[in-house]
Amino acid sequence: MSGANLLIRGGYVLTMDSAGDLPAGDVHLRNGVIQQIGTNLDAPGAEVIDASGKIVVPGLVDTHWHMWNTLLRGMSDGRPTPGGPDRSGYFATCVGVGRHFLPGDTYAGTRLAAAEAIDAGITTVHDWAHNVRGIDWAEAGLRALGESGLRARFSYGYATGHTNDQLMALEDLASIRAAWPSYHADDRIHLGVAWRGTGGSNPAMRVAPGLYRAEIAAARALGLPVSVHACGPAAAAGQVLTYADDGLLGPDVQLVHLNNASAAEIGLAAEAGTPVSVSPWTELQIGYGHPVTGELLAAGLRVGLSVDTTMLSGNADLFAVMKVTQACANGQARHEFALTARDVLRLATIDGARTLGLDAVTGSLAVGKRADVIVVSVDAPNLGVLTDPARLLVTAASPRDVELVVVNGRVLKRDGVVTAVDIAEVTSDARGALAGVLSRAA
Ligand SMILES: [Zn+2]
Repeated sequence: MSGANLLIRGGYVLTMDSAGDLPAGDVHLRNGVIQQIGTNLDAPGAEVIDASGKIVVPGLVDTHWHMWNTLLRGMSDGRPTPGGPDRSGYFATCVGVGRHFLPGDTYAGTRLAAAEAIDAGITTVHDWAHNVRGIDWAEAGLRALGESGLRARFSYGYATGHTNDQLMALEDLASIRAAWPSYHADDRIHLGVAWRGTGGSNPAMRVAPGLYRAEIAAARALGLPVSVHACGPAAAAGQVLTYADDGLLGPDVQLVHLNNASAAEIGLAAEAGTPVSVSPWTELQIGYGHPVTGELLAAGLRVGLSVDTTMLSGNADLFAVMKVTQACANGQARHEFALTARDVLRLATIDGARTLGLDAVTGSLAVGKRADVIVVSVDAPNLGVLTDPARLLVTAASPRDVELVVVNGRVLKRDGVVTAVDIAEVTSDARGALAGVLSRAA
C-alpha cells in the first residue's frame, strides 16, 4: 500500500454519506484509504493539513469524457460553407482531424485532459475513448491515465470515422482485457467499452443489428461495462426503444444525454436500472436541447454529470457543470427548489460514482473508502465567506479555489498547484502534438 499519511484538520466536511456534515471535522488518510472521520482525531505520525475555514468534500466524479480530443479544444465552432465541404462543427472536426491522430497525439490530448481534471478537483474520470485507431492508441490513453494518478474508467472504443459496416476491433479489446493486470495492476483504473450503438437516426450512420448486437455481446462476455450515446433527435426516433427491445439496457449499460428521449423511453431505462450521464454544456452547445436532469431523476434514474468534450464545453470545470445543471432544472420546472445545490453536489460525487459502479470505492467520505478528497479554499474574491458550503461549491467555486487534491491517497495538487504532472511540459507537448496533427490533416 502507498499514499500519504495525512490528517486534514478542522475543515467544513461534507461527507456526502450517512455521517452528514461535520462543520469542524477531521479526515485521516493513510495507505490510500480513509482511516478515520471525526473531530479532534488522533493520528500519530500523520502530516497535518490545516483546513479550518475551508471546505472538505469528496473528489468530483466525471462520468463521460472524450479525453483524447482535448487536444482540439476550441476547434468546433463555425458554420458549413454553402456548397463546400463541411469541416466545421464538432463531428466533422472530430472525424476530419481525428483520423490523423498518432498514438502520441492521443497520449498528449489525454494527458492535457487529465492535468485539467486534477487542477479542477475531478478525481474520477470516465475516458470515453472513441478514437482508438489500433491497440497502440488504446495503450497511449491508458498510459496517460496511469501516469496522471486519477481514478478512471477507460472505455475502449472504435476509431472516429469507423465505417458502419465493420465491427469494432473486438480482438484488440479481448487482448487488452486478457492482459489487463499488465496495464493496471491495482483497481484504480478499470476497463469498459465505448459502444457506438445503433448509429442513431441518420440512415447513413446506421449499424446493422447483426453488428451492434455482436459488439455488446462481446463486451458482456468479457464482463465489461458499456456506455453508449443516445442523443439528439436520435433518441426521439426510438434509439432507447431499440435498446430495450433488444434487451440491451441494464445496470451495466450507461446511456449518455437522453435529451430527446420520450417519457416511455425514460421509463424503460429506469425499469432496467440503466445509469445516465448528463453533460449540460455540450448538450446546449451542440443543440441537443435542454438537459433533462429533472425528468431523469423524477423517473428514478441514476444520474451522473459529465464534461463530454472540451471541444464543446471549452473546459472541464465541473463546478460550472453543477451550476448549469441546477439552473436548467429549476428554470424548466419553474421552481426555485426543483433541484437543490445539495442534490446537484450529490450527482457530481456519490451518484456519479454509483453510475460507474464505483460507489463502494469513492464518491463520498466514509471510513474504508479510497482516499479521494479535495479541499476548497474560500479565500478568493469569488467566495470570501463560508456560508452554505454546498451552495458555494455549486454556484460560486471554480477550479482555482481547489487547494488540495488527493486520489487513492496520493497528493496530486497541493497549495493550489498541480504537483502530479508538470503543467508546462504537458501543455508544450500538447501544442507540439496539435501542430503535427494539423500539418498531416492539411
Ligand atoms: Zn460524448
